[in-house]
Amino acid sequence: PSPLKKRKIAVLGSRSVGKSSLVKQFIENHFVDSYYPTIESTFSKMVVYKGVEYDCHIIDTAGQDEYSPINSQYAIGIHGYVLVYSIASRNSFNMIQTVYDKIVDFCGVSKIPCVIVGSKSDLSMSRQVDSKDGDKLAKEMDCAWIETSAKNNINVGKVFELCLQEIEKMTEPNQAD
Ligand code: GDP
Repeated sequence: PSPLKKRKIAVLGSRSVGKSSLVKQFIENHFVDSYYPTIESTFSKMVVYKGVEYDCHIIDTAGQDEYSPINSQYAIGIHGYVLVYSIASRNSFNMIQTVYDKIVDFCGVSKIPCVIVGSKSDLSMSRQVDSKDGDKLAKEMDCAWIETSAKNNINVGKVFELCLQEIEKMTEPNQAD
């Protein structure tokens, strides 16, 4: 049997876009409507993807804005990123490229394994970001993209599968085992 592969994933994006709710739904299978701002928490979960077992460490961050410096904890030793915006907030969508650029800059690389997540897809009445805009941005940035609802548990597991997929795409065989 192949040894367990450890993957560290950081979840970034504007405040209150639903980062914690996404992680909570993934780890604990529930959703809470109340809002408790996160400082930072780390969670672990075993994920089997394409027949391989991954020990995933997920770092839920407080949230970033255009003025936040990238914390080295969100850059060093991180294998992949989940960048979250809310489909009901144009501002949070505009932050995606900014956060991506800061990470790439901090890490001194040209690309990072990343999945862009349009959260709160259940809020269709308040939609400010078209699906096609999300898809287009992801194509420009060469990232995966998906819309989710932590509330209705839509596509939550898929986010982390896509992240593992992006990580594997960019990792040479055996390099990160
Ligand atoms: P964070 O600051 O990015 O971690 O955001 P939270 O996960 O704390 O969520 C912020 C607020 O948005 C909370 O009141 C959540 O209940 C709400 N929220 C999170 N995910 C969803 C979702 O999928 N649908 C809806 N309608 N609300 C959500």
